[in-house]
Amino acid sequence: MEQRILDTMPQVKAYFEAHRAEFLQDLAALIAIDSQRTEAKEGMPYGEGPAQALAKTLEIAAGYGLYTENWENYVGIIQLDDSKERKLEILAHLDVVPEGKGWTVTEPFVMKEVDGKVYGRGTADDKGPALAAIYALRAIKELGISLQQGVRVVVGCDEECGSSDLDYYWTKTSPAEMTFSPDADYPLINLEKGHFGVKINGILPKQTGVVKIQSVQCGTKSNVIPADAEAVISGVCEEEMRKLLAQLAEETGVETALASEGTQLHVALKGTAAHAADPDAGNNAATAMLQLLAKLPEADFAMLKALHEIFPHGDGHGRSAGIYGQDEESGEISVSFNILNIDETGNLFAEVDSRTPISMSEPDFAPLPEKLKSAGYAAETSISAPHYVSPDTPLVKTLLAHYETWFGEKGECIAIGGGTYVHGLPGGVAFGCAKLGVDNKMHGPDEFAEIDQLLVSGMLFATAIYDLCK
Ligand SMILES: [Zn+2]
Repeated sequence: MEQRILDTMPQVKAYFEAHRAEFLQDLAALIAIDSQRTEAKEGMPYGEGPAQALAKTLEIAAGYGLYTENWENYVGIIQLDDSKERKLEILAHLDVVPEGKGWTVTEPFVMKEVDGKVYGRGTADDKGPALAAIYALRAIKELGISLQQGVRVVVGCDEECGSSDLDYYWTKTSPAEMTFSPDADYPLINLEKGHFGVKINGILPKQTGVVKIQSVQCGTKSNVIPADAEAVISGVCEEEMRKLLAQLAEETGVETALASEGTQLHVALKGTAAHAADPDAGNNAATAMLQLLAKLPEADFAMLKALHEIFPHGDGHGRSAGIYGQDEESGEISVSFNILNIDETGNLFAEVDSRTPISMSEPDFAPLPEKLKSAGYAAETSISAPHYVSPDTPLVKTLLAHYETWFGEKGECIAIGGGTYVHGLPGGVAFGCAKLGVDNKMHGPDEFAEIDQLLVSGMLFATAIYDLCK
């Protein structure tokens, strides 16, 4: 890194250290506003909470002499001055997910500091990182560091419910030359896999034999590998079912439970939940259930057996589904069978979530719907493209160099299966602020951010902005 930038570092560091208390006070004021999306109101597309959080954020920024604009409560912009030209854009968001239950350290909207951490909904996702970016602009302004080119912090109000805030923003302006979003992990995410979704519908043949599947229920979210599966089955004696379940437990590692009620057996399976993008971290109760159903001794179940063959337990990468693929940059495809429902009339609904490497495209996925059709099912598919930015771009190289300098850790690109705020934005990368390997409980109870992690992120943003816009 060139000498002039290194020369600004002690100043920048001292600035953030001197403004630590003020930073925490501002963050507490933002955390105090419950900014989850609610019903739209006149002039407030996401309801009152996000609009209040935006107003407060812009008030804080303007109070430090920064230039601000509110774009109809979809997003706000914050800059050093009123110039519309900008080379660099930083995308953060102010909306939060619902507070949920189970908080133990503090109330979700009352920020509390404990042992160098601040707890509260939005501390890590994404009010803390948003404020770190605003403080980077403030530090540049107050330290009198001059820039030749513009920089803009955009604070959005709808990241958690589909990023329609940015859809609106991009109808009003075009992207800057360089964009990063501190709404994910360090070091830097330059590759987000694509998504291939399949909704499966089938009508099972009328069950004429002794053994009958009354109902199956498994999974509620298409992007979560289910931990639980339940079925009601009749026509099998309890002892026979116990044998089948013992076999299943041995083969799959799921826990099984059995209860009888009259002539009906209630079967429950327990595996391990995981994100759909990471099938090897879970133990899928839905595919274990298919394996159990395939063991039932009736010819009527041919359609279910075929489904089990396409999605055998333990195959999280689509080998049997005929769509296995991988490449060096993105790793393997994930193929997770996450929902399975069968009702008393024999209607089957299932859902598959697949995260696809950058080297794969639509024709590569065709074998799966083909196989499903041959097995008697209807398959409705959806595809969204992967997102990739070369590690050799000046933006990526600069951000990683500053990351190494400030955090003292190796700066390298990582690939993920999910999508970030910059998905689909050419050249955009996700950068910070979560430490790799630290679970900040984003979206759960007791969400927290490490104060130093936020402050050093602010320092890093300040010197990186200088480097990119000087
Ligand atoms: Zn977020």
